[in-house]
Amino acid sequence: MGAERVGILAVQGAFAEHERMLSELGVECIELRQASDLHKGFDRLVLPGGESTAQGRMLRELGMLEPLRDMIEAGMPTFGTCAGLILMAERIDGINGDGSAVDSQHNATWLGTLPVTVRRNAYGRQLGSFRTRADFDDAGAIPMTFIRAPFVVETRDGCDVLARVDGNIVGVRWRNQIGTSFHPELDEDARVHRMFLSL
Ligand code: GLN
Repeated sequence: MGAERVGILAVQGAFAEHERMLSELGVECIELRQASDLHKGFDRLVLPGGESTAQGRMLRELGMLEPLRDMIEAGMPTFGTCAGLILMAERIDGINGDGSAVDSQHNATWLGTLPVTVRRNAYGRQLGSFRTRADFDDAGAIPMTFIRAPFVVETRDGCDVLARVDGNIVGVRWRNQIGTSFHPELDEDARVHRMFLSL
């Protein structure tokens, strides 16, 4: 592989953990904190976990939302985890994991580049965070850490399902985009990041 650089969105959330994992794989990373960082030159994009509403608002205020959407739509390989998956989703489902309706502010879509519907905080309060192992694509079982995670309730346009836990979709791939409900950057298993680097 040539000297590739990964741009990691670093306005909020768990970006340092992605940076650590990608650095261990020998990949150079740059942090994207403001609109001018988008001109620094990178070949791939990571959208980390965190708080999707806060991230989305900041991206809008910083003038980063439209340029990032353009990059993804132009084919830049993109990997979103948890809140990152929510930012990518074309639609947000109207029901929280505890059965309550999400309010309209939280129902906002952001980048909208991935043809899926996600349910935010889909596991509700009881099961807010948990770890498990499940099959990921043809890689076999991998560790999966969920933190107030969404899951995908519908895929469209030939979006591939990469993983399910208890029947719920927790990993998807569509063209240049991978999204996971869980946080592979918090475990030592680098297979999901390797898949991202091979997109
Ligand atoms: N619950 C968060 C949200 O809705 C996502 C949690 C995470 O990224 N770990 O944005």
